[in-house]
Amino acid sequence: MKLANSTMTALGTTVFEVMSALAREHRSVNLGQGFPDDKGPQAVRAAAAEYLMEGHNQYPPMMGIPELRQAVADHARRFQGLDVDWQSEVMVTSGATEALGDCLFGLIEPGDEVVLIEPLYDSYLPIVRRAGGVPKLVRLEPPTWRLPRDELAAAFSGRTKLILFNTPMNPCSKVFDREELELIAGLCVEHDAYAVCDEVYEHIVFDDREHVSIMGLPGMRERSVRIGSAGKSFSLTGWKVGYVTAAPDLMRPIAKTHQFMTFTTPPNLQWGAAVGLRLGDDYFSTLARDMQAKRDRLDGALRQIGFDVLPARGTYFVTTDFRPLGFNGTDEDFCRHITIEAGVTAVPVSAFYDQPGRAPRHFARFCFCKHDATLDDAIDRLQRHFRR
Ligand code: PMP
Ligand code: GLN
Repeated sequence: MKLANSTMTALGTTVFEVMSALAREHRSVNLGQGFPDDKGPQAVRAAAAEYLMEGHNQYPPMMGIPELRQAVADHARRFQGLDVDWQSEVMVTSGATEALGDCLFGLIEPGDEVVLIEPLYDSYLPIVRRAGGVPKLVRLEPPTWRLPRDELAAAFSGRTKLILFNTPMNPCSKVFDREELELIAGLCVEHDAYAVCDEVYEHIVFDDREHVSIMGLPGMRERSVRIGSAGKSFSLTGWKVGYVTAAPDLMRPIAKTHQFMTFTTPPNLQWGAAVGLRLGDDYFSTLARDMQAKRDRLDGALRQIGFDVLPARGTYFVTTDFRPLGFNGTDEDFCRHITIEAGVTAVPVSAFYDQPGRAPRHFARFCFCKHDATLDDAIDRLQRHFRR
């Protein structure tokens, strides 16, 4: 038999699926894969249910229903001051995952260099490679995860097609500040490169920080792609409704990819997401405030147990160093160990590196978008386990 595609054949199963399966097997409290306990806003769910029952269940327009595309444009103006034309610059996708695939397949020509920032979300590298891109990785170092100016500049060249990055950043909970974004923007302009920015956690930022879209920086409006997700903004991760915003010239090849990838996204979920994006400012500020309280709850408790906890400035994840607990194995060993022995699951941070063997091996990522009772249960289990 002929071999299948080598990039895909070489992949393992995503860490989120592996750890969630292990959590189910051992009935542990799953603080690994990021999905909220919260049901999501009632108005959003009700709108989707009603739309479905009213009978809107056939193919919607390929680019997404107008109501959602308009809501995406209005939301970009409200929170980022961006002037977006919903008809030529907004497209709905089946999750940010599809949006990322559409952007990478639509923009990369085989042989193009793609700058990526490590640690990185696990879908990025396989798709960049499958699209024929040549990854140029720039690594952030804990505990500050500052963007290293010289290394970043060195990763760019005339061959750079685009930089793909994520702010607020999963897994290290970094929020890129304006200065860092200006650095990236300057390099994109200098090298005539695009910036594809995964902003799925745009509303989950803490301690009065602000999320800044690189699209709003000088010189970036025409060369940026902004990706959002209703799954994250409305705590409905199973919905898989994403949205891409880009200038028309960039949008065209991205939309061509989408047309043969999924073509459309369930209409009732699009309708619900449109209602969500039009919720008042208080919804979005409460989302961030509630998540911040959960961060504080988990952060404080993990410190008490003996973890070294790195600052979480955005997203709903916290990175911890487990060495102070006296555990000497790898992060994978640790996450398996606490799943089986303590009944709590986390994910190993080395899974967010190109070569886990060459990554830091002493960090575990815990997710805190859970009911307080769930967090307390997990804390209790860890306390009992590590007290022994
Ligand atoms: N990017 C990042 C950084 C994420 O954490 C996630 C979460 N799953 C996604 C993209 C994918 O989002 P979606 O579920 O909308 O596909
Ligand atoms: N984004 C989520 C996380 O980082 C999970 C996404 C997935 O399961 N693919 O935990």
